[in-house]
Amino acid sequence: MPFTPFHMGPALVIKAAGGRHFSVLVFGIAQVAMDIEPLIGIIKGWTVLHGWTHTILGATLIGIAVFLLARPLCNWILRRWNRELEYHKLHWLRSPEPVTRPAAASGAFIGTYSHVFFDSIMHADMLPLRPWSADNALLGLISIDALYLACFIAGLAGVAIWFALGYSSRQ
Ligand SMILES: [Zn+2]
Repeated sequence: MPFTPFHMGPALVIKAAGGRHFSVLVFGIAQVAMDIEPLIGIIKGWTVLHGWTHTILGATLIGIAVFLLARPLCNWILRRWNRELEYHKLHWLRSPEPVTRPAAASGAFIGTYSHVFFDSIMHADMLPLRPWSADNALLGLISIDALYLACFIAGLAGVAIWFALGYSSRQ
C-alpha cells in the first residue's frame, strides 16, 4: 500500500481487543518491513511493485524476521514512550513493558498477513498465493476509497477504545 499508515487502523482495533497480547509497535515495524520492496521499486521504476514480499510466503518470512529482530527496538521505544507519559502525568495511557514474545508474534504475523490481505484488494500487481496460484480473488473486493475509509474509521475507533479503557482503569 503506498500509504503504509492506513494499515495501522485495524491494528488499533486489535490492540483494543487484544491488550497486552498484541504489540502495535511490532505490527508497525512489520508494515514498514513489508513496504521496503515497493519503495525500492518506486525509486527504481519497476513495473511490478508488489512482488514476492507481498505473498503469503513472503509475509511468513518477513513475519519471522520481524518477530526475531523487532523486540529490542520496540522495548526501547516503549520505555521512552512510558517515561514521556509519566512526565506529562498521563500514566493511565502507559503500555505494559517489555513486549512479550506472544505480543511480538501476534504483532509480526497479524501485521504481515493483514498487509497482504489489504494490499491484495487494491493492487493489480498482487499475486498473494504465488507460486501456487496466479489468481488474486481479493482484487477489487471493495473500492479503494471504501478500504481507506474503513481503515481510517477502525483507527479512530481503536484510539477511542484505547483512551476509554486507559481512562477507566486510571488510579
Ligand atoms: Zn504493501
